[in-house]
Amino acid sequence: MQADVVVVGGGPAGCFVGEALAKQGFEVVIVEEHGEVGNPACCAGIVGTGGFRELKIKPRKWVLGKLRRAVFYPPSNRPVEISRGKVEAFVIDRAAFDRELARKAVKAGATLLLRTRCVGLKLGREPVVKLKGARETEVEARLVVGADGPASIVAREVGLLKTARYLKCAQLETVAKVRSDATELYFGSSFAPGFFAWLTPAGDLCRVGLGTSQGNALGKLLSFIKTCPTASTKIQSKKILNIYTGLIPEPLTRKIYADRVMLVGDAAGHVKPLTGGGIYVGLSCAQLAVEVAIDALGSEPTAKKLRAYEQAVMKRFGREFELGIRVRRIFERMTDEDLNSIFELLRKEDVRALVHKNFDFDRHEKLLRALLINAPRLLPLLELKKILKYSRYLLKP
Ligand SMILES: Cc1cc2nc3c(=O)[nH]c(=O)nc-3n(C[C@H](O)[C@H](O)[C@H](O)COP(=O)(O)OP(=O)(O)OC[C@H]3O[C@@H](n4cnc5c(N)ncnc54)[C@H](O)[C@@H]3O)c2cc1C
Repeated sequence: MQADVVVVGGGPAGCFVGEALAKQGFEVVIVEEHGEVGNPACCAGIVGTGGFRELKIKPRKWVLGKLRRAVFYPPSNRPVEISRGKVEAFVIDRAAFDRELARKAVKAGATLLLRTRCVGLKLGREPVVKLKGARETEVEARLVVGADGPASIVAREVGLLKTARYLKCAQLETVAKVRSDATELYFGSSFAPGFFAWLTPAGDLCRVGLGTSQGNALGKLLSFIKTCPTASTKIQSKKILNIYTGLIPEPLTRKIYADRVMLVGDAAGHVKPLTGGGIYVGLSCAQLAVEVAIDALGSEPTAKKLRAYEQAVMKRFGREFELGIRVRRIFERMTDEDLNSIFELLRKEDVRALVHKNFDFDRHEKLLRALLINAPRLLPLLELKKILKYSRYLLKP
């Protein structure tokens, strides 16, 4: 087989790129290892309303709910609620959302090969993608787009991974007593070291998930739903419908282009460093990939041409990634006691006002900078030794 572009992975990033390039008249083949797009999807499905607006994605039937507030449960278990009274994010049905993107790609002219797994690449002037499954064949392409998620085979085969840093995650869907407009976030080293757990309403169900930088995420999630003093009273653990596990990559841990190869979405590590949310960031960067690919396919998509993609991503998200990773390193090292102190700050009116003014669901840099600028005023509220312990990670992650 031959194609202009082979996209490995039929998730949101792959289908988005597939549609855009097919619309430009390129012959696009999207390969997806599963028999159905969007299933399984280990994802809480929260996407900022502003992000969708920016991407010109109109909310449709796949919107299961609207979030107006976040309730944080620090290790002290004293909840702090943050809300600006407006809808900040949608909770989406990932399977239906992914399928809509796949439908658009096919409608635009892309070929979608389901139950077909990319098992290797032969690099060269015309890279060859080796496929197994429903189609046991090789496809010769002018450009290969790796949209195959965090553990991307394309990234590994081409040698684009610099360091393999992931958060391990698990999520289940069940019935729980939660408000339909609030996501709840639970922090504590005993159940989610280095990250947090969540209860997110999704229509009639609730997505209960957890990410961790250490150990077995599924074991930790099952322990969380039984032992967390608050969450365990809300969750009906006998009504679990499904359980998924997944990985969240870290930005800037991989090069995102090579000769005739580009990475997009999770494969490129394009997620928000603090929350792992990758739908908006992945699609926003995928737009940049498309612009560069269209130009590069006009002649030869060499590494020299595709470098513009990395430059564009860094221009749009570089500061967001860099500052977010530094703050994440601090957060990962925080003791429960220090986390409690940080969340206590959120009870203070002036800190809440700062958060309300600067919070952007899809870009955390603005709030982080506002907090840093106001550090001289905020720091006396924390003990000096707590600040000194972590400050070096702000300079060097
Ligand atoms: C527990 C959890 C919760 C999350 N919650 C949120 C959230 O609330 N909001 C948010 O914005 N983001 C969230 N994310 C992140 C979000 O799910 C990802 O950023 C998003 O799915 C990335 O889309 P993608 O298209 O890059 O990759 P994926 O959605 O992973 O799609 C990759 C596709 O490639 C296919 N594939 C993989 N390897 C091959 C191969 N060798 N051959 C063929 N096909 C292959 C896979 O089957 C898959 O369909 C969460 C992630 C996790 C793990």
